[in-house]
Amino acid sequence: MSQLLIKNATVVTLGASNKILFHHDLLIENDLIKDIYPTGSKNDLFLTKTIDAENKIVMPGFINVHTHFYSAFARGISKISPAKNFNEILSNLWWKLDSSLTLEDTKLSAMTSIIDGIKKGTTTVIDHHASPMELSGSLDEIKKACQNLGIRACLCYEVSNRSGDVIAQLGLEENKNFLESLDPQDKMIKGLMGLHASFTLSDETLKKAGEITKALKVGCHIHTAEAKSDQEHAQKNYRMRVVERLEKFNILGNKTICAHCTHINDEEMKILKDTDTAVALNHQSNMNNAVGISDIKKMMDYDILVGLGTDAMTADMLEELRASIWIQRLTSDNPTAGFMECTKALVNNNAHIANRYFANIGEIKKGYQADVIILDYSSPTSLNKDSFLGHLVFGLCNALVETTIVAGKIVMEKRKILLVDELTVFSEAQIVSKKLWDRL
Ligand SMILES: [Zn+2]
Repeated sequence: MSQLLIKNATVVTLGASNKILFHHDLLIENDLIKDIYPTGSKNDLFLTKTIDAENKIVMPGFINVHTHFYSAFARGISKISPAKNFNEILSNLWWKLDSSLTLEDTKLSAMTSIIDGIKKGTTTVIDHHASPMELSGSLDEIKKACQNLGIRACLCYEVSNRSGDVIAQLGLEENKNFLESLDPQDKMIKGLMGLHASFTLSDETLKKAGEITKALKVGCHIHTAEAKSDQEHAQKNYRMRVVERLEKFNILGNKTICAHCTHINDEEMKILKDTDTAVALNHQSNMNNAVGISDIKKMMDYDILVGLGTDAMTADMLEELRASIWIQRLTSDNPTAGFMECTKALVNNNAHIANRYFANIGEIKKGYQADVIILDYSSPTSLNKDSFLGHLVFGLCNALVETTIVAGKIVMEKRKILLVDELTVFSEAQIVSKKLWDRL
């Protein structure tokens, strides 16, 4: 048995209890939060380790509900043609890059992305992977990367007919094999059926995906009406809206995540609500690709479970939160818009979405998983339950995450990644990413 005590902390519980507890100790036993009590009120016996968190914030780790680890190797890339629209961004950059990824690239891009996330306090990630050239076994490589670094992850392979029907079939099989290989008792690694987007998926592929997920009782993770072109393609080729098409093939449901949903109408929102499908918004990515901005308020008015992802634009969930609020304000011409919706999406809804795959994460509570971060934070104003969200958006965003703990295991302490040698990982990544760029 291992016991870790975080002493004298300001504990922000989040979740249903939503308390701020000053001068409290957090006792972690193995992977669980064992107890929370005022500092000095209990004897600290048989402890494996103690961390002094005086003047520090202790809160649940962040959850990213949509990203792409492999995008790490696009950083700084110059050998691409300029794009005039979203489809050209995909063909000139992303499909060129992912089509050249080897299994080693997959592993190392995942490791560097995960390290970047841990340094920003992200403890759970829902990833969406593509590597059509070396596809089979790619999810196992990412799984190993997650295990090596100690984070919680829900993985999938992005099935698409864009590289032909054979590759689409291999993608379906990669997801199926991976999902069947997972131990249901494993609290750290889960899976979904990954699908690219309606406009690159044939009816036959969607039908097979729906059948596999029904048999395995899992959900899907799919880009949904990210750009107008996806919606136009569905209407022109299938005479239906994107979300209607996904519903037709049993892709939606309470285990499914639809990413973006930038261009969906009221009818589609009703379908998402009726099927209890979650939505992952990615505002910075939408701005970067100039595809438009999702209407978070309207989706929440429809009572859709809306969370925030980064789409690999950043490893920092608080940076994504801030950008989400600013753009909601700008697009609605309202300087008070977006704050409550975007903070709710990150703080509450990302945990609800993640708990559809994992259990008891996203809150500091007895018996919950010990996914905990320690931030160095001083404020010139008082921190309390009512002011916390303001501190999160305008203050904690600039606080350094000192320590990251996942399932009771310290994965970063005082900024040092503990389970792998960070410098070695990044220098190996530089070697393989250069080779990748040379192949483009
Ligand atoms: Zn994406």
